[in-house]
Amino acid sequence: KSYKSVALVVGVTGIAGNSLAQVLPLSGTPGGPWKVYGVARRPRPAWTANHPLRYIQCDISNEEDAITKLSPLADVTHIFYVSWMGSEDCDVNGTMFHNVLKSVIPYAPNLRHICLQTGIKHYFGLFESYGKIQKHESPFLEDVPRLNTKNFYYNLEDILFREAKKKENLTWSVHRPSLVFGFSPYSLMNVIGALCVYAAICKHEKKPLTYPGTKGSWDCYADAADAELIAEHQIWAAVDPGAKKEAFNCTNGDVFKWKQMWELLAQEFGVELVGYKEGQEQRSLEEMMKDKGPVWDAIVRENGLLSTKLEEVAPWWFADIVFCSEDLLSSMNKNKRHGFLGFRDSKKSFVSWIEKMRVNKIIP
Ligand code: NDP
Repeated sequence: KSYKSVALVVGVTGIAGNSLAQVLPLSGTPGGPWKVYGVARRPRPAWTANHPLRYIQCDISNEEDAITKLSPLADVTHIFYVSWMGSEDCDVNGTMFHNVLKSVIPYAPNLRHICLQTGIKHYFGLFESYGKIQKHESPFLEDVPRLNTKNFYYNLEDILFREAKKKENLTWSVHRPSLVFGFSPYSLMNVIGALCVYAAICKHEKKPLTYPGTKGSWDCYADAADAELIAEHQIWAAVDPGAKKEAFNCTNGDVFKWKQMWELLAQEFGVELVGYKEGQEQRSLEEMMKDKGPVWDAIVRENGLLSTKLEEVAPWWFADIVFCSEDLLSSMNKNKRHGFLGFRDSKKSFVSWIEKMRVNKIIP
């Protein structure tokens, strides 16, 4: 088979990577037909079996491993970088990305474009400084100045700008999704995963689904980015001349309230919902769920689910951040000006990913 484009998806088992691996090989995908290489550190998981993917197990934080495994991929035309190390350390995250670029740019003569995924922390800073520094006013706009604080997203951008200059006609785009709705039992930040596991545990223990978050997060308008839409966004930027050397927000293009999503969640699992109660303090899911490993193991066993560990499928710390956050909307106007008009209905998106978790036997 002859391919028009060759993608290297770095972080292919993550929440964005998994959708790229699914969308790129489809027959109608712009720039196609695409050949797809996918990189992650762990062995290939069973739930990627249906993707026509050339899987490469490689630790990109290790320069030698990256050079050995990625430099032979001389046919790569596009890099989609959708990875991070799980900590906000600027040096390690920078090294990972730099190792990939060093292993591909000099060895892939037809390399044309690099998509770098960062996110809206660009506008409010790292989680570790959340609430301690002045964030940008929302709705966030792409072209505001950087905040005066350390942020690995800024390091990644600087590495991208510097390395891309080393090759003629090599272009790039930066993608800044808001909260991602998608599928990946390996993701370090999968809010739908955490919510589904929480709901399944509530149902198993015959308890109501209690909202643990703050009033602000329950009531405010929020936005999200469907992982499949993110894939379409990156592919658009990879092939469309109007999207080169620019940063773009990525959201579904609508808003919702978490109180509406919790209703959908309760319906999906057939549990009673107890919403935000006036005066309630935030309760940490990480704290509430810390002894539930054996309960999850029993749910997995009783329902014949794919074997997973609670801490893998339910990043509680991340849900705790989501359910104390508010006022983090992004503008999609720059996207429209440059020609990206893609969108999703966030409520439909939310339910569709729950269903995907179920079909893949991750949740009951
Ligand atoms: P995930 O945590 O979902 O996935 C990370 C991927 O990278 C996995 O495939 C993982 O596989 C791989 N990976 C991690 N370390 C290495 C390594 N050393 N070598 C090779 N592969 C590695 O990532 P996200 O898609 O969530 O994150 C990508 C970017 O998007 C980040 O900058 C994040 O901050 C940003 N973002 C995420 C949001 C979200 O809601 N998830 C929201 C907005 C922005 P393995 O574990 O096997 O190595």
